Amino acid sequence: MKISQSRLDRGFEKYQQEYEDKAIEVLRSGWYVLGREVETFEKEFAEYTGAKYCRGVANGLDALWIAFRVLGIGKGDEVLVQGNTYIASVMGITINGATPVFIEPDEYDLIDADKLEAAITEKTKAILVVHLYGQASNMDKIMEIAKKYGLKVVEDCAQSHGAMFDGKMTGTFGDIGCFSFYPSKNLGAFGDGGAIITDDPDLAEEVRVVRNYGSEKRYYNRVIGANSRLDEMQAGLLRVKLTHLQELTAEREKIATRYLEGIKNKLITLPEIRPGATHVWHQFVVHSKYRDELKQYLEECEIGTIIHYPIPPHLQVAYRYLGHRDGEFPITERYAKEVLSLPVFNGMTYDEQDYVIEKINQFTL
Ligand SMILES: *Cc1c(COP(=O)(O)O)cnc(C)c1O
Repeated sequence: MKISQSRLDRGFEKYQQEYEDKAIEVLRSGWYVLGREVETFEKEFAEYTGAKYCRGVANGLDALWIAFRVLGIGKGDEVLVQGNTYIASVMGITINGATPVFIEPDEYDLIDADKLEAAITEKTKAILVVHLYGQASNMDKIMEIAKKYGLKVVEDCAQSHGAMFDGKMTGTFGDIGCFSFYPSKNLGAFGDGGAIITDDPDLAEEVRVVRNYGSEKRYYNRVIGANSRLDEMQAGLLRVKLTHLQELTAEREKIATRYLEGIKNKLITLPEIRPGATHVWHQFVVHSKYRDELKQYLEECEIGTIIHYPIPPHLQVAYRYLGHRDGEFPITERYAKEVLSLPVFNGMTYDEQDYVIEKINQFTL
């Protein structure tokens, strides 16, 4: 049996007719960028998350840098972020000229809230919380520290659509929540897309201005903005998917539960969920000291896996100028050598899940 790490075609086929009907509707509407579909999606997504406002943008990276821009965070400012995140989180900070300060992850692969205070300086302006792999971060502790030091909080929810902490949606704890709708994300579009959510009307308005050339009124430009618009086709298709997001998430949870109950191998450590948090299983990430051997073995069994992520941001060539060195963040660097994401996707069959479990249980050195 051949199993890819992800199969977006299966997710499409689940609601194929609805997507195709919506695509034709948008094509025939004669309006393709920032229109009725985007406005309606913004309302519906705000309602889904419990935020007051949502503004569509072109992608998740834009959501992040525009968030820091409208919060006035840039040159000379420091932003705390977990060391083992995707590069986009860090670029969201540095595009505006701010400096990322890396924090080691905890046993849930998320920012270790106990290590935040020691990293705070005069220059610290914000915490970027990444709900990595789909699990909500330790939000009560993080918000407590943010309040104590007067820091802004931006949440990177690119992997955590629908994940909650103490019954509250990720993205609604801080000042701004940033989402990506890249096709492989839990709420994935059929092209690029992104959004920010906030309860602050001024921030929401500023995002609306920045995303469209800094224009409040057509052809009047108050600030130098971006071209970062969500298009009607993506917004329309996202509206269709949003009506099914709960069942799509439940399906991922079911796969994860079967893995958690079925995988029994001393060479592999399974993911855990923090009390109070929920996990929407954007990725099912195991740790193993023998990760490379495991990956190679699963390849031989025709089971696809991915490493999220093999090189931590502080060791990337792009961030050499920050002056970090090998060994500076031992937990982050160890995780990069240990993590492996197993296949999880909507439309994955029981047979496929069983095959993955069986093969992993047979893995030996
Ligand atoms: C995907 C992702 C992003 C960026 O989203 P794009 O839409 O690809 O720009 C940011 N942060 C995290 C954690 C992501 O997984």
